Amino acid sequence: MFETSAITLSRSALRGNIAFLRSQLGDARLCGVVKGNAYGHGFMPFVPLAMEEGVDYFGVYSADEAWFITRHLESPPDLFIMGNAEGEGVEWAVERGIEFCVHDLDRLNSAMRAAERLAKKARIHIEVETGMHRTGFAMQELETVIERMKAHAEQLDFTGLFTHFAGAESQVNDDRVREQIAVFERARQRFAAAGLRPRYAHQACSAAVMNFPRTIGPMARVGIMQYGFWSNPETWLRYSAARGINRDPLKRVIGWTSRVMGVSEVETGDHIGYGNSAQALHPMRIAVVPVGYAHGFDRGLSNNGHVLIRGRRAKVTGIVNMNAITVDVTDIDGVGKGDEAVLIGQQGDQAITVASFGELSEQLNYELLTRLPHYIPRSVID
Ligand SMILES: *Cc1c(COP(=O)(O)O)cnc(C)c1O
Repeated sequence: MFETSAITLSRSALRGNIAFLRSQLGDARLCGVVKGNAYGHGFMPFVPLAMEEGVDYFGVYSADEAWFITRHLESPPDLFIMGNAEGEGVEWAVERGIEFCVHDLDRLNSAMRAAERLAKKARIHIEVETGMHRTGFAMQELETVIERMKAHAEQLDFTGLFTHFAGAESQVNDDRVREQIAVFERARQRFAAAGLRPRYAHQACSAAVMNFPRTIGPMARVGIMQYGFWSNPETWLRYSAARGINRDPLKRVIGWTSRVMGVSEVETGDHIGYGNSAQALHPMRIAVVPVGYAHGFDRGLSNNGHVLIRGRRAKVTGIVNMNAITVDVTDIDGVGKGDEAVLIGQQGDQAITVASFGELSEQLNYELLTRLPHYIPRSVID
């Protein structure tokens, strides 16, 4: 109630993005990655919206994210905790039949203990360390893992074997990613030689789906592209150049708007906002929009970013405040209190994309999106 801005999610954009992804994935299962509050789009309503559009399986980072989703949905989708679950989080996941990552022997032991206690199989995805050096079993640990899994077969459902690439979006990392693919294949064969076959051996994220399609296999974990963004500009350029395509098949799902809170006249020589970063060199009209860095509007956009008002671009003038920005509307006729101000999205024939927003403030799409606070209301539009 009474929020100063609102976020919308476009159903038709999401529908198109999913259709494009399915065209790339073929028969492979789509695991829609929704960690980080669905990349800032909001677990609610993004997850139920994606379910309506046919996605039935989601990847989250941690047990608390999975818990949040199950708590808000009457019939939750299949969930895979790709990162952190400890202690009671593991127990809860086993009890609820939620899949989770096993990246070390300690986690494997807690999975087996919980499964024994609950008389229910733990649905595990074994993570292999292939070169990212974050989490996962090293090759030399696999024999122990295999032994324990065979000894406790009745407690474990071997749902997945997986790894994550350290930079499949940039060609400069190609050698490193190719090495990861080779290591992962050796790990898969070790398990197979021991008679252990996961339901899904999976490795591809968005960038790998596009740049290393042979890694798609039976399943891909796709985050950023669902929301309508390429992993980075290079991935889009590689795709479009290779196929001679110049129309982007992805559409931004998110929009973010606020309203003008007041307009004031500023005389030549006066300063606008804190300090002296902005001075009027001619008489100006300045509009205040009640969104600031506390809402994820980066301070790097001070005297730099734009918003759309009355179908025109209005430049952020002065420093971005905690809860407000001041924008130059001198050349936009008739701006008044209550006018819509678009922070991300379209107005008339103008658009503010997350990418341009991100480039100006030197944040990646990923980071910028996930900084949008959870309390801004989200609603679905067509
Ligand atoms: C975030 C993440 C993904 C999705 O990455 P995108 O680049 O958004 O497609 C896939 N797998 C794991 C393990 C992740 O952490």
